[in-house]
Amino acid sequence: MVDTEKIETAVKMILEAIGEDPDREGLRETPARVARMYGEIFSGLGEEPQNHLLKMFSEEHDEMVLVKDIPVYSVCEHHLLPFYGVAHIAYIPKTGNVTGLSKLARVMEGFARRPQLQERLTSQIADAIVKGLSPHGVMVIIEAEHMCLTMRGIRKPGSRAVTSAVRGVFERSEATRAEALALIKS
Ligand SMILES: [Zn+2]
Repeated sequence: MVDTEKIETAVKMILEAIGEDPDREGLRETPARVARMYGEIFSGLGEEPQNHLLKMFSEEHDEMVLVKDIPVYSVCEHHLLPFYGVAHIAYIPKTGNVTGLSKLARVMEGFARRPQLQERLTSQIADAIVKGLSPHGVMVIIEAEHMCLTMRGIRKPGSRAVTSAVRGVFERSEATRAEALALIKS
């Protein structure tokens, strides 16, 4: 749980510091709103995302499973501005260690709802799936646009950062990686 009172005080101070009047009508409720919002977008700090993988199906399936275009919303830890885009998560389960498709998105969300770096987010998802499911392999790709690059600084609207993390057979086999990439692009 976040300390909402502390966030409210801090937001009020930021408003004062930029030369605003925190008591004018439009801003009066802002510190409380921001505090509630931070509670939501940083709620991943209070959870262990790997726990979403505790429930497994003993399905006889050891072919590639890919969930693509999962919407990702996170916050860059350098500027506290959003970055957002899509994640593609592929894994090859060991027989008996199959998880629900929605659980993969839950794992991603648990890590995304924290101050993050896109690179770290990508690896954390891959490592949690390795630990949780002991699969033959995992590949995670995230494509995201960073507000800290588009609304300030170098201002490159539309540019996307692409990060990937490969584990197990995806690391060893170029053919397996190529198969996953072809499915993502199709
Ligand atoms: Zn940033």
